[in-house]
Amino acid sequence: MELKSFDKLFYKLKQSTVPFLAQWELTTRCNLDCIHCCIKNEHLNGELTFEEIKDILYQLKAENCMVQRFSGGEPFLRKDFFKILELATKMQFAVLILSNGTLLDEGDAKTLKKLGIMNIQLSLYGATAAMHDSITLVKGSFDKTMNTIRLLKKHKVSFKIATMSFNKNFEELKELRKMAKKEKWDIGFDFVIFPAIWSSKDPVILRASDEQIKSAAKSKLLIWSNKKASKKRFRAEDRFRGHLGLEIGSSGKVFPSVINRMEAGDLRKSTFSHIWHRSKVFNYIRNLNEKSFECFSCKYYNKCCRNRDIAYLEQGSITAKPLEICRINQIFHKNKE
Ligand code: SF4
Ligand code: SF4
Repeated sequence: MELKSFDKLFYKLKQSTVPFLAQWELTTRCNLDCIHCCIKNEHLNGELTFEEIKDILYQLKAENCMVQRFSGGEPFLRKDFFKILELATKMQFAVLILSNGTLLDEGDAKTLKKLGIMNIQLSLYGATAAMHDSITLVKGSFDKTMNTIRLLKKHKVSFKIATMSFNKNFEELKELRKMAKKEKWDIGFDFVIFPAIWSSKDPVILRASDEQIKSAAKSKLLIWSNKKASKKRFRAEDRFRGHLGLEIGSSGKVFPSVINRMEAGDLRKSTFSHIWHRSKVFNYIRNLNEKSFECFSCKYYNKCCRNRDIAYLEQGSITAKPLEICRINQIFHKNKE
């Protein structure tokens, strides 16, 4: 099978061990209190300062990193966030932002446009204020996020809406999709709810039921990987997480991803280059082959959105079967249109 151009690029970058994308947890502070949140106030060991972030960005540049994705907590709570964005864009990184969208005003939308941010992803949990605010636990948050969406659209800043899909908001998802279609928003619905191992919250109880997943598969709210892939092509979940991507925690610790918190090193104690090329964690991940994974013997192997992080959270091993993915996958394949 012919490799698509992106696959070819990622394949080459992977062979050269280039850290294509760095995701930053710039802070774990947040002005919302979402019922599913596993991040807020969980890693409060002293946020990286602007000078530390600047130094790390230069180290990432030296390793040919191309994309910086800034997240939180809520990154706009940092007073120096625009300074960080300005530096990253000046350094010619492609810049992505993940935000709850409640803290931006018109001036901020104009600045994001001027800086040339590639995309900002905003979380929206329902089609109504009553639903959204019952998930963020902050009254008025829906109106603020909707206002930000309006401002971003007005100033032509590229954005995407991300919707975690729970049992609680399931009935509003179709309405939200209608709204998105009417307003021409790019929107994605995520049904994979991670268990939390470092938080007191237990988001698992919020997962959509089997019946809801079935209905989402039939109505195409649930988008799932169901195309056969060639051996060389690697799927989205294989591209990053220690191969082409990494997570930088708020105090400078480095992990394969936001979910997989196998600690690879600490940027306050070691250089990025040393962590990326020499850490046991990254080398362990890179030395695994397809047969290392329990999924390899599954009949759905080439038709499933395998997510190794969730296996790490469920069973302490990224090579184990990710049970929640198995559940969704099986319902999807039995019920897709
Ligand atoms: S907006 Fe994000 S970081 Fe803030 S409480 Fe909600 S899920 Fe957590
Ligand atoms: S996640 Fe489950 S269903 Fe999917 S390939 Fe792995 S074992 Fe099979």
